[in-house]
Amino acid sequence: MTDPWIFLAGCEGRGGLAAAAEAASAGRDPLSVIEAGIRPVEADPAIATVGMGGAPNLLGELEFDAALMRGSDRRSGAVAAVRQVPHPITLARRVLEDLPHEILAGEGATRFAMECGLQAEMRPLEHVRRKWKAWLGRHGLPESPEALRDTALSPACRKSAHPDIARGTTVLIVRDPRGGMAVGTSTSGWAWKYPGRLGDSPICGAGFFADDRHGACACTHTGEMSIRAGSARLLVSLLARGLELEEACRETLRDLGALQGGYLGPLILHAMDREGRTCVMANTLEGTDRRYWLQTGEGVPEDRVPLVPAQGH
Ligand code: ASP
Repeated sequence: MTDPWIFLAGCEGRGGLAAAAEAASAGRDPLSVIEAGIRPVEADPAIATVGMGGAPNLLGELEFDAALMRGSDRRSGAVAAVRQVPHPITLARRVLEDLPHEILAGEGATRFAMECGLQAEMRPLEHVRRKWKAWLGRHGLPESPEALRDTALSPACRKSAHPDIARGTTVLIVRDPRGGMAVGTSTSGWAWKYPGRLGDSPICGAGFFADDRHGACACTHTGEMSIRAGSARLLVSLLARGLELEEACRETLRDLGALQGGYLGPLILHAMDREGRTCVMANTLEGTDRRYWLQTGEGVPEDRVPLVPAQGH
């Protein structure tokens, strides 16, 4: 009997598990399985932090971050602060497949989306726009694009640094029966963020990392922290040094706990070792979702994965 495929999905990722499992059983490779598993989440208007249901930046524009990485050769493809792209994960895949680059940002990423036929007009859903406008109003900011253009946004950006709105990413890690691993991320990022802000989700080594020799990791929540600490890469390096998965997660969070200043908040590690063991661990349970999903093989009902609080920091 061969090993089953293993899928580990972060909070919002549950809705993509069936499509991921279907792609796996159709014989697709790990990157295709990641893309297949993240696209339904991007298309789901009920998910408020990813794709079409996502939250805009302070100017009311949707700006997406997404990435995927293959553990066999450590190739990655990422797009950052890209606009007017309904499926940023597919654009990230095209960066990996078609370009000699690992990451494209802003206007260049949007241009590449046009080249690939992946661009489409997108604006926040009406109820999301209403929330955004109400938030601007509460913080004394004008709503009109012309007036906003001439307004200093940095004071408002600080006010949006609240754990309830500065979070939300879909992440997916997969392992095929031969030990091939891949990881993917997609997000609209911190709601009401400063335009052009990148989270950790498109940054290799910060928000994601995969190496078939050791394991894979993807992070959600406070990207400002995992960027500083290189958390996903650190976790996989600790596995390479022989730490058990749970200990590697604890050690990675201890390292984060030593950060001083800046924007500090919750961070959740989703990790899988080369054998397919999984762990989801957070530096704090405050301000976190508690819904993580593990599926082993097509048609197998998904299980909840407990969110383990780290201790000792
Ligand atoms: N890590 C994401 C970011 O910093 C947000 C999140 O996952 O909560 O954009």
